[in-house]
Amino acid sequence: MVTPASSRLQPLVILFGLTLALALGGILARPIESLSLFWPVNAVLAGVLLRNPRQASLGGFALVYLGMLVADLVTGSAWAPALWFNLCNLGAIVSIWWLMARLPRAHRRLRTPHGTLCLFGACAVGAMVAASLACVMAAPWFEQSLRATWLAWFSEQFSTSVLVLPVLLTAPTPRALTRGGSQRISLAPLLVLLASLALSIAFGGPGAIAFPIAALLWCALSYSPFLVSLLTLTAGSTLIVAVAQNLMHFSVPQSEPGVTTLMSARLGIAMLVLGPLVVACVSNANRSLMARLAHQATIDHLTGALTRSAFTRRANALLDSRRQHSPARPLTLMMLDIDHFKAINDQHGHAVGDQVLREFSVTLQDQLHEGELFARLGGEEFAIVIPGLAPEQAKFTAERLRRAVQDLHQEYAGHRLPITVSIGLAGCSGELPAPSLDVLLAEADQALYRAKAQGRNRVEQAEGKRQAV
Ligand code: GH3
Ligand code: MG
Ligand code: MG
Repeated sequence: MVTPASSRLQPLVILFGLTLALALGGILARPIESLSLFWPVNAVLAGVLLRNPRQASLGGFALVYLGMLVADLVTGSAWAPALWFNLCNLGAIVSIWWLMARLPRAHRRLRTPHGTLCLFGACAVGAMVAASLACVMAAPWFEQSLRATWLAWFSEQFSTSVLVLPVLLTAPTPRALTRGGSQRISLAPLLVLLASLALSIAFGGPGAIAFPIAALLWCALSYSPFLVSLLTLTAGSTLIVAVAQNLMHFSVPQSEPGVTTLMSARLGIAMLVLGPLVVACVSNANRSLMARLAHQATIDHLTGALTRSAFTRRANALLDSRRQHSPARPLTLMMLDIDHFKAINDQHGHAVGDQVLREFSVTLQDQLHEGELFARLGGEEFAIVIPGLAPEQAKFTAERLRRAVQDLHQEYAGHRLPITVSIGLAGCSGELPAPSLDVLLAEADQALYRAKAQGRNRVEQAEGKRQAV
């Protein structure tokens, strides 16, 4: 398929527009005649190119350079410094992108601690490249020594990239956002983080920079990596601004020429956020693993029905709640067994048998309502629990299910496979003492046995002393 030129051009136009907007924002926000307190443009663009690999072409990088150049020129910069400074910026963007793009996707999206450590390495290299290029190419425009210039560029670029890039790399896609649904999150770690930031600034001194670590670690254990990245960005930039504004009341002694308090604080803050970011991705990986294990223990992978153990847990919970809160409420349990299923396997193969199990489950699940349990007890045996179903209606419902299975149009090699099910019913109503799940299962099983014995494709009810349905 040929992509129209307009749709190929559109992302590039967006990339150019984004670069221009970011660079203009960065230039207008920086104090006159000095380097920016933050120059997030390089980190944001490296992140955008890592998330959109198609734009990371020679043409894409050229447009990024052009966008930064145009932003400098329209805000009054002379040609020469604009050309050279932006080559330094491009050097940082290309080196971070080049190093991170080599990593497997899980590392690149910071889903592993290894990926987060690699990001720190890539940010350090990107900052070194920008600082070294600045010393080589842009030296004539700096009044400071080369050493001071290098340190200023390196500390600003490293800390800004380490704070900004995780946000872009962990940002969820719109599809993941809609799939995730709404989850309740605890506000306590966030409030403690805000309090510890306020305390850092109020208390002051170099040690105060580390005050938010405990709160950030708590956030890392409680929130998603994306949210933690946003919080490390907020906390880190707040501390950098506080140091720059001398709100934290400390300074580095000038024994080391070129090393300023701000540089030292920037590097310290950048290293401070490494721990929480690594903890966030380890804890997220643990949460995903636990969720996967819980899902596997609860849902049968072939049919999507509850597993036997999940069914036992939930059915017992239903019976307990009935006993405690509404002893008069009826309840029905059905046991279902596909007829002559072995013959389907034997004649058409195991894969067709699996397909029949899936279709059978979908058909039954379509017939059930919220709050009703549907489980695969094993092989081709299933169980259903319907709370609130009156005994006189249970047989009608079971008949409806039996007919839905009988009407299932499952074809194999042009022939319709006859699929039928036998159903045994048991239940309890208000007048009788609540039976245990084992008793109900045994009664339904006996009824099922009778349904099989009487010719299959039929519904039978439990009978005997404790007949309830
Ligand atoms: P009846 O009408 O008496 O229930 O006969 P049946 O053939 O359905 O029952 P039987 O217990 O003899 O056979 C059940 C078969 O189900 C045997 C087993 O190989 C097959 N089976 C169990 N689990 C699976 C599965 O996951 N996939 C497939 N394809 N077959 C399975
Ligand atoms: Mg069977
Ligand atoms: Mg069976």
